[in-house]
Amino acid sequence: MIRPELVAPAGTLEKAEAAFIYGADAVYLGGTEFSLRAYAGNFTSQQLAEVLLMARARGKKVYVAVNFLAHNADIGRLAAYLEYLDTLGVDGIIVSDLGVMELASRYAPGIPVTISTQASVANYVTARVYQDMGAKRIVLARELTLQEIAEIRDRVTVELEVFVHGAMCVAYSGRCLLSSFMTGRSGNRGECAHPCRYQYRLVEEKRPGEYFPIEEDDRGTYILNSRDLCLVEHIPELVKAGVNAFKIEGRMKSAHYVATTSRVYREAIQAAVEGRSGDLAAWRAELGKVGTRPYTTGFLLGPPQEGQDVYKDFKPSREAFCGIVRKYDPERRMALVEQRAPFGREDVVEFLRPEKPGFSMKVEILYDLELEPVERARHAQQLVWLPVPEPLDYFTILRRLPGAVGGGSR
Ligand code: SF4
Repeated sequence: MIRPELVAPAGTLEKAEAAFIYGADAVYLGGTEFSLRAYAGNFTSQQLAEVLLMARARGKKVYVAVNFLAHNADIGRLAAYLEYLDTLGVDGIIVSDLGVMELASRYAPGIPVTISTQASVANYVTARVYQDMGAKRIVLARELTLQEIAEIRDRVTVELEVFVHGAMCVAYSGRCLLSSFMTGRSGNRGECAHPCRYQYRLVEEKRPGEYFPIEEDDRGTYILNSRDLCLVEHIPELVKAGVNAFKIEGRMKSAHYVATTSRVYREAIQAAVEGRSGDLAAWRAELGKVGTRPYTTGFLLGPPQEGQDVYKDFKPSREAFCGIVRKYDPERRMALVEQRAPFGREDVVEFLRPEKPGFSMKVEILYDLELEPVERARHAQQLVWLPVPEPLDYFTILRRLPGAVGGGSR
């Protein structure tokens, strides 16, 4: 059985590295222009070249999102940008607009085209049209059942990609004017302000200024707020259905999120391909260590029964992402850690490792770069030496565990 590709989000170079090290086969990202995530820390030309070098060194792929709705004024710049992507030799361009697809075939003829989920491909006829137009892959609409995905698979040869994890829209995958209407920022041009997550109130038109709560309980209600997608337990059925690639949402999320989700889904895909059941409870526990809304299986099993998070029950991560190992010194038996959140003496930290089981330990002492003892790593990106009981790989992630917070101010 062919192992489907795992495609992870990369809002920055560091997140791309996290994805590659923790098991993703490919990343998707946006350039500083024409991506559908205007606030995701998009890549400059220099960074695009760097991430490609990083990918090539590890045998991984880079897909560049150009999946916005183009207006006339965009066309001239777009042609130059597509030529540039062609010169760089990226592994794919993700588009949703037919005109952009046509321009890609003209100005980036060497680069395979992926049809974005933003195009809402929800049936095999539409999939065949894109296939006949030369698309290499289609990211299907998120609003499909397993049965529909399998039927599309049976009727087309184009590669199919399916979202398996992350935030959802209340509209058909981003085809939504809520943000444009309420904030002037267009979701279709990468500027969504996520007003579907806001809290809404009821107003009677003759009583302006009187806001009646719409309450299910004292936390109110968030009627448009979708739960987050999590299909980890359905990976075997999706592999069996012939899906070629699985995608994780979240270009604006942290390197910790990218590493954790990539690692879990890599294991789940591997287990499915080998016909093993895998440790679902452990995978769910691991996914729970990054902040999330309550999960849903979306439309995979039919119309969502519990699709909305009306209580705004966002569960922040209880484990704080507090550092990344940059190197290990075998003589001193210490790891050089780059700080991401304050941690120090008396804290219990857990190590998330790319390919080995994690472990936890209590921090007894830290040292600065002059090897003077320090109580805590307090500053963003501060480098500290941490004595550890066994060698740690580059990019091992440190999580500070809850309930065991050490002394000193945060
Ligand atoms: S407002 Fe919500 S539903 Fe609309 S595009 Fe943004 S995230 Fe999606």
